[in-house]
Parts: sequence; structure tokens; C-alpha cells
Amino acid sequence: MNLILLGPPGSGKGTQAGILSTRTGWNDLGTGDLLRRLVREGNEKALLAKSYMEKGELVPDTLMVELLFAESGDLGDGLILDGFPRTLNQADTLTQRMRARNLTLDAVLLIDVSDQEVERRLLQRSACSTCGKIFNQKLVVCPACGAQIETRTDDNAETIRKRLQVYHQQTDPLVTYYQQQGLLRRICGEGTIDEISRRIRQALGIA
Ligand code: AMP
Repeated sequence: MNLILLGPPGSGKGTQAGILSTRTGWNDLGTGDLLRRLVREGNEKALLAKSYMEKGELVPDTLMVELLFAESGDLGDGLILDGFPRTLNQADTLTQRMRARNLTLDAVLLIDVSDQEVERRLLQRSACSTCGKIFNQKLVVCPACGAQIETRTDDNAETIRKRLQVYHQQTDPLVTYYQQQGLLRRICGEGTIDEISRRIRQALGIA
């Protein structure tokens, strides 16, 4: 099965993609995580993306697509795309790439969370800049790798508002795009992680 997780920043796409991937063995491809890892590794192209990320803007489509496909190789079956596509251009590119490889997109799950809840969640989370793990509370030391925790540079009130504005302007149109293809399923993204996980499995018809 190949699917896309769509939703605003802080809607829990990364967390849910990780849980689903562990359960099913499908490959979790999160573009935010991918970009942050490449920046940490000093990848030259990713360093071009860094300034957009810090401002809460989208990385330009051409650069994003180049980084994604250079890193992930070609798309294979059993894929959870988390954070890609985020523009109509990216969605068209994905459709073409999948078609060329005879891959089918089975579902697009929209994780619905209000802007107010997004702001609340993002202001209280911590991200480890060493191992990349994200935690839903303010921490000083990373429980996963022991490194000192720094707040993500884009998790501040001003950048969060910008990211939400960008989401509504550039990513919202994908809802209609995938609705018209009969692929969109809405998931209420508020509640516990387990509740949301269960809703996702129900929507996909898996145990
Ligand atoms: P995320 O961790 O998913 O919130 O992504 C963090 C940042 O990475 C975003 O604010 C964008 O700057 C960039 N990014 C991630 N995915 C994409 C994408 N598909 N297209 C453009 N920029 C992206």
C-alpha cells in the first residue's frame, strides 16, 4: 500500500507515520526529517534549503524534488509519504513518478487539527538536533540519545504562524486535488496518539 499523510505542521504526521511503519513494515519517508538530517550532515543542496526552513517557508519545488529523489532513490511499493507533497506542483511530480513505475497511490489521509491546537503543540515540543527525535514536551536532555536538546529553530510563535499561513495557501489545495481523485480520507487529529493511530488503521481497513 502507498499513502500520503497530509496535515498542518504539528498535526502528528511524523509520529503516526512512524507508528504505522513499525506496524506494517512500510517505508516512512518524512521530508522534514530528511531535510534536517541532510542539513546536519552538511549536504550542500540541503544547506540551500535551510534558510527556507528557518523562515517557515517551503523549500522551492525543484530543490525539494531533487533532494527527495536523490536520497530516497526510486519509489518502491509500501510507502508512507509524510510531508510530501505540499504543493500542487509536487503532487503532479509524484503522480508522474508513480505512474512511470506502475505504482498506485492508495489513500491520502488528512490529519485534521485546528490552528489553535497546532500553535499549542508546537510551542511545547522539543526536538533533538543530534538524533532528530521529536518529543511532545519541553526537555533538556534527549531520552533517546542523551544529547542536549535545543528547540527547533522553526518552533517559535512567529515562524509557527508563518508555517500555518504557508500550509493554508500552498498545501490546502491538495485536499481538493486528492478529493477529486477519490483518495482523500479525513482523520480527526485531536485526541491521544493511540486514538489517532486507531482511526488511521480503521480508515485504511487494517488491523
Ligand atoms: P516539517 O518537519 O514537516 O514541519 O518540515 C519542516 C520544514 O521543511 C518545512 O517548514 C519546510 O521548510 C521544509 N519542507 C518539508 N517538506 C517539504 C516539502 N514537501 N516541500 C517544501 N518544503 C518542505
